[in-house]
Amino acid sequence: MRELRFDPIRNRWVIISTERARRPSDYTIAGVGAHTDGKSLAACPFCEGSEEKTPPEIFAIRSQGTKPNSPGWRVRVVPNKFPALQIEDDAIRYGTGIFDVVSGAGAHEVIIETPDHNEELGDLDTDWIKDVLFAYRQRIRDLFGDYRLRYVLIFKNHKAEAGASLTHTHSQLIATPMVPPVVKQELTACRENYRAKERCLICDLIKQEIDFGARIIHETRDYIIWSPFASSFPFETWILPKHHLHDYSMLSDNDLRELAPVLKLLLNSIKRLLNDPPYNFVLHTSPPRFKRPGQPQHWDSIESDFHWHIELIPRLTTIAGFEWGAGFFINPTPPEAAADYMREDITKLIEVRRVI
Ligand SMILES: [Zn+2]
Ligand SMILES: [Zn+2]
Ligand SMILES: [Zn+2]
Repeated sequence: MRELRFDPIRNRWVIISTERARRPSDYTIAGVGAHTDGKSLAACPFCEGSEEKTPPEIFAIRSQGTKPNSPGWRVRVVPNKFPALQIEDDAIRYGTGIFDVVSGAGAHEVIIETPDHNEELGDLDTDWIKDVLFAYRQRIRDLFGDYRLRYVLIFKNHKAEAGASLTHTHSQLIATPMVPPVVKQELTACRENYRAKERCLICDLIKQEIDFGARIIHETRDYIIWSPFASSFPFETWILPKHHLHDYSMLSDNDLRELAPVLKLLLNSIKRLLNDPPYNFVLHTSPPRFKRPGQPQHWDSIESDFHWHIELIPRLTTIAGFEWGAGFFINPTPPEAAADYMREDITKLIEVRRVI
């Protein structure tokens, strides 16, 4: 069963998906870490030569002359074997009493970032990371063409504590038949600011933060890395393009080439400075400009007032009762201090390793 149910008290949608676990005994105290152990290498479905262990590939960057679902690839995208949402399902919206339900149309894909079991995303050279970023763009572009889908969220879980069920480095994508609540909050803030001022909120923030300086970790010609003013988590870090663009899928190859070393630098710094912590990152971009034939454009599809970005959270603290009950986060590291540590580390990284 896969469906989205609306919680009228919390004012948000929840995905009910029974693909992974149903019975009480399917849940362990170890939780998400249950599948991850050292012996998994031989059985790893993401390694080169094990292509038949995954569902057939959707997209791959591979050497000329090699066949789909065979060795010879650099980056490979496959459907998740246990999808939270599935593309074959139809997005049927209906009410049942006071409740609202949407049947679970969507997509759940895995972007395998390298055939090498022992490399992490931050270890790859910048040209390889560019290919991973290219795969993100390709999948978003493709899925934006499906009128049932309202959003495509790219995210990465690094290590079991951050939700990764396999150790072989990969990112994921979940496409949903509605805009996710967190994205909607950001879109709404940006839209209200744009309507009031005819300026992009995030462009204004970037200008002010560059002038102020204390929360800027790194700056290149096209991108900045910052600690947000009101970071929810210690060492929460964002990458933002300095030039206004709402939609990641509109980036050029050259834009991706410039982004790759910035992402590499951030991943290496987080690993070095914080002792290789589990982390999550997400890519926030505007919803698709979809128009179903014969129907009006959905209101979510005109978001050129948004500004795409990547948010990274090292998992250094846990979400406890207060955060859950109150929605307040307590961050023990001021963003200015986090920025100081990271700025210093990145300066050293650039000197020592010449990664950029
Ligand atoms: Zn592997
Ligand atoms: Zn902007
Ligand atoms: Zn965001």
